[in-house]
Amino acid sequence: MTVKSNLKMELSEAVSKFKQLDETISHYTNVIGLANWDQRTKAPKKGRALFAKSIGALSTEAFKLSISQEMREVLETLTQPENFEQLDQVTQACVRERKATFEKSKTIPSETYQEYVVLMSTANNSWEDARKENDFSLFAPYLEKMVELKKKFAEFYGYEGHPYNALLDEFEPGLTVEKLDPLFKNLRESSINLLKRIQESNYSPRKDIFKLTYDIPSQKAFNKFILPKLGYDLDAGRLDETTHPFALAINTGDVRITTRYLEDNVRSAIFGTIHETGHALYEQGVNPDYEGTVIRRGTSFGIHESQSRFLENMVGRSKEFWTHFYGDLQDHFPTQLSNVPLDDFYRAINLVEPSYIRVEADELTYNLHIMLRYEIEKSLISGEIEVKDLPSVWNSKMEEYFGITPPTNTLGVLQDVHWSQGGFGYFPSYSLGNLYSAQILNTILKEIPDFYALIEKGEFLKIRLWLKENIHQFGKLYTPDELIKKVTGEEPNSAYLVDYLENKYRQIYGI
Ligand code: ZN
Repeated sequence: MTVKSNLKMELSEAVSKFKQLDETISHYTNVIGLANWDQRTKAPKKGRALFAKSIGALSTEAFKLSISQEMREVLETLTQPENFEQLDQVTQACVRERKATFEKSKTIPSETYQEYVVLMSTANNSWEDARKENDFSLFAPYLEKMVELKKKFAEFYGYEGHPYNALLDEFEPGLTVEKLDPLFKNLRESSINLLKRIQESNYSPRKDIFKLTYDIPSQKAFNKFILPKLGYDLDAGRLDETTHPFALAINTGDVRITTRYLEDNVRSAIFGTIHETGHALYEQGVNPDYEGTVIRRGTSFGIHESQSRFLENMVGRSKEFWTHFYGDLQDHFPTQLSNVPLDDFYRAINLVEPSYIRVEADELTYNLHIMLRYEIEKSLISGEIEVKDLPSVWNSKMEEYFGITPPTNTLGVLQDVHWSQGGFGYFPSYSLGNLYSAQILNTILKEIPDFYALIEKGEFLKIRLWLKENIHQFGKLYTPDELIKKVTGEEPNSAYLVDYLENKYRQIYGI
């Protein structure tokens, strides 16, 4: 009896200590988030580098707490199987998350981490120069060091199977090469095949519509008009402008998004804003009871991207969406659009075309851009290819997937910032998001059969509440794997995205 009650005391003490630590780190994280938002949107140029040090100091404090002796002790107690099973579901999820961070962080020796932080900033500068000069050799030595470090990280983290699994896990817990390869193989083969058929078809959507100038005040007015209609709560967020749009959650009552307006590209602001709104609805929809805990955020990069892509593509690029909103868009841009029929507009926003630049790619070819990067990252980490081979590997893969070869490295291997930042393992989450979003759409269509009819009427509430109830509210309560199975009843399956793309473009291109 005595032993049992002592254990109980110990457990409840450990739980309360853990909750305190979790909450303190969460508060720090919120403040760091707000500071980062300010750096990227409002802070004057001259103050940014100075303030970066303040953010760095606070981040270090949060990091120290997450790997502190106290954290080690409470995690040791709470992860004892006989203790863990007594915890409620929310505490279990918080312990799981903090434990994963603890395990990862403590494995990297501090001098290796320091080397990595320094390399990130020098590699980024060299990447910018290389891109400007179209000279891969300026970036290559830094990228070589980065790949070597990332290989080391993989060894420190530990993995089963392919070493790249250790890096994938950072962005999509539980994801492996062994799971991803068959998913991507199916998607790659069918996308290449569909692209060929589209190129061989006699039809091509109009391009003239988007070669016109669209004034920025009207773009802003249209964006502000559709934002609340999509369910974004402007009392729990705000919209600002940045060169690279993003969404950032300070807490469930303060989820901010940014967009950018380009006179010569009206699609950028419209679809960029809808995309970020998808991220924001996720964060605004998390159960507010999770505030102050580690599970208060979206569960993974892939699931997050599924929510933004769902809103941007499945909803925002649908015929029904524009059946409802096209009249409003025409009212904002009468000179450009009053003589353009809805059907022409709808097909034009769904134009498919092989292109060099990932961020400008359409819904179909986007995944090919990702899979190209995935194959390259995997081979770099396993040592099958070396950094010096990259331009030629890149170009031959472009030829194989798209049938085009970039005329310069700036339009090819040098286009993305990710590798200079050490972001190996990040790219797959974009396509994984697309894959999840089609699988989720398949489930929604069964549960809300009038899904498209509602969109055509401009009624998004039922759809948003479905997403909130089935996905958003849970935050990190479930791992991405568990969540997808819970929502759709099965493991990730690329067949849904393949079918969705096939049906959509067969109709648009008459193939
Ligand atoms: Zn996104």
